[in-house]
Amino acid sequence: MRRTKIVATVGPASDSDEVVLGLVAAGVDVLRLSFAHSDIESNIARLRRIRALAPDVALMVDIPGPKVRACTFGADGVELVVGAEIELREGFDETSSSAVIVIERQNILSGLSVGMAIHIGDGGISLSVIATGARPMARVTSGGVVRGKPGLSLPSSLMNDELPTPDDRKRIEALREEEFEILAVSFVRTAFDVAAVRAVLSRDDVMIMSKIETSEGVANLQEIVEVSDSIMVARGDLGVRMPIEDVPHLQKLIVRTGIRFARPVVVATQMLESMTHSQVPTRAEVTDVSNAVLDGASALMLSGETAIGHDPVGAVETMNRIIVRTEQDFDYAAWGSSLGVQQVVGKRSEESRITATMTGAAWRAAMEEDVVAIVACTRSGMTARAISRFRPPMPIVAVTPFAKTARQLRSSWGVNHVIISDKTDMNELVALALDYLKAEGLAVAGDPVVTMAGSRSTGSAVTDTVRMAFVP
Ligand code: PEP
Repeated sequence: MRRTKIVATVGPASDSDEVVLGLVAAGVDVLRLSFAHSDIESNIARLRRIRALAPDVALMVDIPGPKVRACTFGADGVELVVGAEIELREGFDETSSSAVIVIERQNILSGLSVGMAIHIGDGGISLSVIATGARPMARVTSGGVVRGKPGLSLPSSLMNDELPTPDDRKRIEALREEEFEILAVSFVRTAFDVAAVRAVLSRDDVMIMSKIETSEGVANLQEIVEVSDSIMVARGDLGVRMPIEDVPHLQKLIVRTGIRFARPVVVATQMLESMTHSQVPTRAEVTDVSNAVLDGASALMLSGETAIGHDPVGAVETMNRIIVRTEQDFDYAAWGSSLGVQQVVGKRSEESRITATMTGAAWRAAMEEDVVAIVACTRSGMTARAISRFRPPMPIVAVTPFAKTARQLRSSWGVNHVIISDKTDMNELVALALDYLKAEGLAVAGDPVVTMAGSRSTGSAVTDTVRMAFVP
């Protein structure tokens, strides 16, 4: 049973019904749909098609924020050679080449100055501006092949857009009635950004995932985590906006901060990058995936590997194997104990204090008694997320009346069993969970189990009761 979850990005290579079903069969927990490409109508049509095909996984919609892209270099790509001088132009629906890079943004070239660095995609291709004015030019300082419509990383001074950007606002408005679980928001810099997106979204059944990918996002990490439902370590942009050698340390910091607040944290980008073209990953990539599991990530994400790669299902199967192997050596007890010394600080609501304390008590009881499972009765999913932060070695079984909550819990570490029940009485819920454990072969009569629920039935807003029960 894999505890760390897998997110796969759907793109041209995985858009067909057959590959989507293949990804689900390979064990994907979350399918990510980027709304950066194509028009809103086709993105919504794709979301609905994939929702119907994959009713049990979580759907994550990723909105690009102020991300600047180049017009397409074509599927086969174009080689940019070190020393080549390339014109920069603004435009839409055109083609970029080795002679001209067409930038999909108005009024951006006037802000350029000589010497500014422009990075293309996540792959280390860079240019330096050599001329501004009527015909801006840049020289390639680090070359390579660029394909499709890569993102351009421009200096922050050129990207001071408010969140949500006008285009993101239209995307969010179009998503108000759609059936999906997570909205990933790019370039979150402050808690205010998250609040502004939440206000436009105007619904509380969708989790907001803040992508941390700028120095401002890192500087304001804790305040962003506090107001977000989940977090992504967006290593692609992070690695061009911060010194690249900081990325592994920022990954650890962001994962730990997210988990302290019981937020699922996804580690993203270039995890098995070489598998976009190759059958086997590099040793370094395998080690990176493994280390992200040991860092405590809730989920790991595949991007180009599944979106434009030659074998999306193979990439998921490879990631699955690496995670399962790593989890054999995961030090569950040490992880949970270390949380005790990094308790959440700052102002917290009464409800979150109760949930934090009760899940801590549940974890201690579960470890001391070596129980076979932890049962969390939950409406929003919060109780299951809060116990998940301790990374317990035994299964976490969530009982919820809502299919949406069940799907959202696919992004939470270790919550592998979810029972959907319309019952409200706590005794009935616990009995249901114990029957389930026996039926699934997870427990036999006499096995100890820890259960958590609200004391006044599941109608209670907060989990305030921990019980130990024995399977009848
Ligand atoms: C990233 O930058 O790592 C990322 C996940 O964002 P995007 O794919 O939108 O560039």
